[in-house]
Amino acid sequence: MKLKTDGLILKAQNIGEQDKLVTVLTRDCGVIRAFVRGAKNMKSSKSAATQTLTYSRFVVYTGRDTYSLDDAVSEEMFISLRNDLESLSLAQYLSEVIMTVAPEHVEAPDFLRLILNALYLLSEKKRPPLLIKSAFEMRAMSLAGYMPDLVACQNCKCYEAEPMYFLPKRGMIFCEDCVSLDGELKIPLNPGVLTSLRHTIYADFNKVFNFALPDDSLKILNMATEQYLLYTLEKDFKTLTFYKSLNQLN
Ligand SMILES: [Zn+2]
Repeated sequence: MKLKTDGLILKAQNIGEQDKLVTVLTRDCGVIRAFVRGAKNMKSSKSAATQTLTYSRFVVYTGRDTYSLDDAVSEEMFISLRNDLESLSLAQYLSEVIMTVAPEHVEAPDFLRLILNALYLLSEKKRPPLLIKSAFEMRAMSLAGYMPDLVACQNCKCYEAEPMYFLPKRGMIFCEDCVSLDGELKIPLNPGVLTSLRHTIYADFNKVFNFALPDDSLKILNMATEQYLLYTLEKDFKTLTFYKSLNQLN
């Protein structure tokens, strides 16, 4: 079968002298691994269009068990990402999250839009990296079916409290009166962080990155979203460890 689509190259490995094996988030087939014949020939447009973190249009051929890509043309290479190690390492982490939670072999236009928006804002430095990371983590988790419940305190149903505690292991919030005193991780959220955390999952899709927080609050938001993702997915992200080693964010 032959299908024209577009997507973001998440990972590219060389195969032999001429070919590549790429992992791509496509609009119409979700995450797929596909062979690209002749992709290492520098004269071929396929060479640039199948580099990691390049958004391209291409034709996907589906065989019985394999995919191959052809006629690849790059649309956006996010050049400025490649010149900045911190942005690049964050982009690689976002890609690893996508490879973990995005569906395979079915359409995934929302995941594609989410990561393209994030990479654009990151490469153009339109938002702080931690804001992009937090919003991306929560929205990607929600799209994947892991939306936490941030409407109100799980026990008394109060909507606002200062602080409200977020429990990353459960994906729930509790007010000061209702939070239990056991050893489970609880992250106290001031009203600004609570509003932002709600925004990342409940805001309209095209506004997901449209908010602002002071740096110290952004760090708390980041701790909440990262811990939620790590607890829920039960996975170590090497790209996250590397990103944090650059930033000393712990
Ligand atoms: Zn309560």
